[in-house]
Amino acid sequence: MNEAAISSRDERPLAPGLYIVATPIGNLGDITLRALDVLKRADRIACEDTRHTQKLLNHFGIVTPTVSCHEHNERARAAELIAAMKNGGRIALVSDAGTPGISDPGSLLVTQAIAAGVSVIPIPGANAALAALTASGIAAAEFHFAGFLPEKPGARRTRLESLLAECEAAEAPRTLVFHEAPHRILPMLEDLESMWGADRRIVVARELTKVHEEFLRGTVVEVRKVLGSREQVRGEFVVLVDAQPRTGARVRVQVQESVAGRIARLQAEGGVDEMEALKRLARERGLSKSELYRELQRERARPKGRGKS
Ligand code: SAM
Repeated sequence: MNEAAISSRDERPLAPGLYIVATPIGNLGDITLRALDVLKRADRIACEDTRHTQKLLNHFGIVTPTVSCHEHNERARAAELIAAMKNGGRIALVSDAGTPGISDPGSLLVTQAIAAGVSVIPIPGANAALAALTASGIAAAEFHFAGFLPEKPGARRTRLESLLAECEAAEAPRTLVFHEAPHRILPMLEDLESMWGADRRIVVARELTKVHEEFLRGTVVEVRKVLGSREQVRGEFVVLVDAQPRTGARVRVQVQESVAGRIARLQAEGGVDEMEALKRLARERGLSKSELYRELQRERARPKGRGKS
């Protein structure tokens, strides 16, 4: 280890200031040693929801007092916490999950603390968007984190439209990263499909770090169909869109070759049986064999002459 590195368990008293502490997004094993140390040694923990954080603290045997700091009281609470820190206090800020300030409260307290001359110390850790991005298989060198889209359909489409315009104007390939709620994921994918093209490559990361963690990779139409075929869409989602600029992307909506058609071609070209062709196609489209097999069955059950939507 680098000599300049500081031990995760520093024996010196915690310096006064505001500690921005990331907490797990599902798997409690993702808490860092440094986060535990700071949470134990802070004077108070400012929480988005004290009851929620209390469960995490109980699990790790941490008895530091908590205080609420959420979007409805952040302004008033900031003044009180900053006064305490100016007097030598050590405050840890946590949100319900992941990194505070990222689609979560925290930025106002940070800005005001800096303005008041209080030290702000990041304690990095879990973050859903970055976890999804790093395992997505979509380029991660340049990305735009867009947070949640607006809830109202009109505003959501306007936002997608302006993001599309920005990406089309950009010179470098870039990936868009969104948070999405389970009840809005399908309408969001429908909008993406109609505005950005059915063949736009996306990844939907669901329930990251949890038992049912899942990555759905493919074109927007493929992923939408897989999710849409489920009885219920549950969980927490990060949506990543390969937003490489493409000339005429808005009008050139390519319909991808059907699963049955592609399998027949792979069989003919490679002299392989249907299972092997299915395996190759799963690799090609970044989907599981069972998802492709279900789609194949659906295509075969469709009345002849009805095109792939
Ligand atoms: N501050 C958090 C972070 O650093 O990841 C994000 C908080 S934001 C209020 C909550 C959203 O993050 C969810 O609606 C979902 O889009 C995403 N998210 C949080 N945990 C997730 C998980 N385990 N799997 C997938 N997405 C998750």
